[in-house]
Amino acid sequence: MSSSSPKSPSSSSRPLLPYGWDADWETAFAPYAAQGLVAGRVVRVDRGLCDVVTPGGTVRADTEFVVPRDPMKVVCTGDWVAVDPEGGDPRFVRTLLPRRTAFVRSTSSKRSDGQILAANVDHAVVAVSLAVELDLGRVERFLALAWESGAQPVVVLSKADLVPDPVTLAHLVQDVETAAPGVPVLTVSALHGDGLDVLRGLIGSGTAVLLGQSGAGKSTLANALVGADVMDVRAARDVDGKGRHTTTTRNLLPLSGGGVLIDTPGLRGVGLFDAEVGVGQVFSEIEELAARCRFHDCSHESEPGCAVAAAVDSGELSVRRLESYRKLVRENQWIVAKTDARLRAEIRKDWKRKGAEGRAAMQAKRGHWS
Ligand code: GDP
Ligand code: ZN
Repeated sequence: MSSSSPKSPSSSSRPLLPYGWDADWETAFAPYAAQGLVAGRVVRVDRGLCDVVTPGGTVRADTEFVVPRDPMKVVCTGDWVAVDPEGGDPRFVRTLLPRRTAFVRSTSSKRSDGQILAANVDHAVVAVSLAVELDLGRVERFLALAWESGAQPVVVLSKADLVPDPVTLAHLVQDVETAAPGVPVLTVSALHGDGLDVLRGLIGSGTAVLLGQSGAGKSTLANALVGADVMDVRAARDVDGKGRHTTTTRNLLPLSGGGVLIDTPGLRGVGLFDAEVGVGQVFSEIEELAARCRFHDCSHESEPGCAVAAAVDSGELSVRRLESYRKLVRENQWIVAKTDARLRAEIRKDWKRKGAEGRAAMQAKRGHWS
């Protein structure tokens, strides 16, 4: 967030403050205010229509004029928009203010394009349950997504009441910290209220989202943060990660302690989408080591002068972390390859070569055994 605008927002838009309005949005919106348009934040989208919170209340608006062919530019929850001052129901969204950040996921279908899930998110809270064994690879995957969106990640180890021994808890925090350089790691018990204030302090300004596996305690956390039972806690039925909430019609809610929470279907368990930058940030220490390898295109497999291999040998870098890095880099390349024809052709060439090598090896084996 920029600190270039010390002015506080004008009084007419004060009702938008609990929704994340600030002086920078006011500046971005000024040309549209001059045209008599009304500012608002999208709190829900469905089938070309959206609900927009404006200073005069929530209005229904049609996105027909602003929806381009590019699926990434479709209006989504969290967007700041300009709507018609009055008139029909629905009104029309006239413009979409440039996004600060965006959460995008790869569509599970064969279509290679991304899908925009939430806009203007400042904090990505990755919930990790302490009720089950830690899966650091999964934490790293969520963190890659979080960084890639432009939001600042924070890891919340939830259900801390289930780990009463402080030494064990401290070790678990340490383990997660090695997988999350540059990311605060908190322990929270929504059940007892422990750690909630620290979390509120971290996300109390700006907009947050909750990410994490089903059953991680996201709904419980959301209820605690919002201060009302707005999310349906029913982990068992949330198997597809779509998190259908029947008890709320808004996907964007002001928090009782300040800040805003976005919780849209599909956002909680997103997959990678061209998250190269995000992956690099999650594994920043490996990228720093790699910069010191003798060969700039070192694969850290068996090359001489490899700083990554040296760090593994010395115990500075864990094999688990290096393998997790490789896995996410590969996964990301595969997703990018779906959209990038040139890279696709290159990978195919590589596969052909590997295929030929594989066939040669098979033949050699057969020759050996026959
Ligand atoms: P979600 O799928 O990530 O939304 O997870 P839920 O919020 O539905 O929680 C999954 C299960 O964990 C539910 O049975 C909750 O009651 C339980 N749970 C959530 N938070 C806590 C906590 O702080 N302590 C304990 N012991 N259980 C919790
Ligand atoms: Zn290397």
